[in-house]
Amino acid sequence: MRVIETRGLTKVFGKGESRVEALVGMNLDVEQGEWVSVVGTSGSGKSTLMGLLGLLDTPTSGSYSLNGRDASHLKGGELARARRELIGFVFQSYNLLPRQTALSNVELPLVYAGVRGAERRRRAQEALERVGLSGRTRHKPPELSGGQMQRVAIARALVNGPALVLADEPTGNLDTKSGEGILELFDELKASGATIVVVTHDPSVADRGDWSVELKDGRVIDDRTAKDTTGVAR
Ligand code: ADP
Ligand code: MG
Repeated sequence: MRVIETRGLTKVFGKGESRVEALVGMNLDVEQGEWVSVVGTSGSGKSTLMGLLGLLDTPTSGSYSLNGRDASHLKGGELARARRELIGFVFQSYNLLPRQTALSNVELPLVYAGVRGAERRRRAQEALERVGLSGRTRHKPPELSGGQMQRVAIARALVNGPALVLADEPTGNLDTKSGEGILELFDELKASGATIVVVTHDPSVADRGDWSVELKDGRVIDDRTAKDTTGVAR
């Protein structure tokens, strides 16, 4: 099963003098269960790519098929639903609601999905157990460490059972040890069949993925580096 297939994916911002080709002609294939790293210097187009893959933004041209279905022409409610049902986001800055408990934060995607009361709490609880936080469900983000907040964010990303987990610099704000805990969690996710795309500028984080794509000025300059143990050109 191919989770991501892009062909000629292009995003241009602005016009005339301020025109920026943020992403140009990207062809990307990611199979189910793969962990792909996206690397490149600041301004190379990494977040633009994540915005397109995450259905937060629409391409200027090119196609994007997500989980076998064309996602480049989705609009309005359809777009929101695809985003909610197929994608889990993890951000560098966690993006948790500070006044809500860990449990409520994780329940949020289920609220939008229309899952009710006890079932919603059960599933959020289960997701928090999965990230090793069953003892912190009633804590609010300010009472948690950075590593714990990122675990809550990962539980929130997982709770809907997404086809794709997108993480933009997930360990960027963490010390080495907490960062390692997060990477181990991604290892476990991958082992359970999740498909993961991680943006990072840390080579040691990129090495944890199955392969990586390097962007420069919106273009792929190095593709499918790292570990291809089969020796098959992909
Ligand atoms: P990265 O995440 O690799 O740092 P971005 O994808 O954020 O890079 O940006 C790629 C290029 O597109 C940069 O030159 C940036 O200034 C430009 N860009 C990104 N978003 C916008 C936007 N909303 N409007 C105009 N230019 C943008
Ligand atoms: Mg960025």
